[in-house]
Amino acid sequence: SAQEESADTREPSSQVGAGAPNIARMYDYWLGGKDNFAADRQSAEEIVKISDGKVLRGVRLNRAFLGRAVRAAAETGVRQFLDLGSGLPTQENVHEVAGPGARVVYVDYDPVVASHAHAILAKSASVGFVQADLRKPAEILGHSVVRELIDFSEPVAFMFVSVLHFVDDADDPHGIVARFRDAVVPGSHLILSHLSRDGFPQKMAQTEQVYQGASARLGARTRTEILGFFDGFELAEPGLVGPTEWRPGDGPPSTEKFAGLVGMGVKL
Ligand code: SAM
Repeated sequence: SAQEESADTREPSSQVGAGAPNIARMYDYWLGGKDNFAADRQSAEEIVKISDGKVLRGVRLNRAFLGRAVRAAAETGVRQFLDLGSGLPTQENVHEVAGPGARVVYVDYDPVVASHAHAILAKSASVGFVQADLRKPAEILGHSVVRELIDFSEPVAFMFVSVLHFVDDADDPHGIVARFRDAVVPGSHLILSHLSRDGFPQKMAQTEQVYQGASARLGARTRTEILGFFDGFELAEPGLVGPTEWRPGDGPPSTEKFAGLVGMGVKL
């Protein structure tokens, strides 16, 4: 289609902010994607060095957590997902994991993410994409695509996976999550992962330095601050833990520590 062509033939020079490392494309690079440019790769490589390669395993564990959490929410009967800061389409996207009949709205403010999402998702009537800034909950909750696909009398799963550490305290991230929470019925879910500064404070500070020149700053938070996002939700087992510890299933047990914390909550 024309949409797909325009996505595939685009030149770096035509991209918004092609000069500055872009947070969505850095993440894409770590996941092994092709939608990144030299500036993205250079910053992404700096963080590979700072983390001794750990970031590469961390992003895959983060995606794997996303998949397991979506399946877990779907198993409890949740059929609607709002994926905030959805990123470039990758493997195991929410609509592919959530099963038939699920309705999914992806939200991202990045124009490159938007062009890819539109091209890939245009085919499915139960999947939508909204290009919007999650710091504006009212705009998202009132958007026609959201209103068409999401029934607010039924539980909704909000996904803030590896995105709230890009939202500055000045923008009141806890208040933002609370506004989404207040729009949905009990039994709705919060699926969240977030970088913590507790485990590796020095490496995290160096990583934040790299993001100073990027399309958004990174700000890791303490475990207590991250727990605060679950206000009004009951944390599901096993709580707020490292990505290898969250319902690993039959996978080989791992004791490796990562800077991310992940969890799922159910609205009370
Ligand atoms: N959630 C996906 C995952 O975990 O695999 C992608 C995570 S990626 C690290 C972060 C994404 O959040 C990027 O695509 C970025 O454009 C998006 N993002 C960051 N801040 C945002 C905001 N204020 N509004 C909407 N999207 C945002």
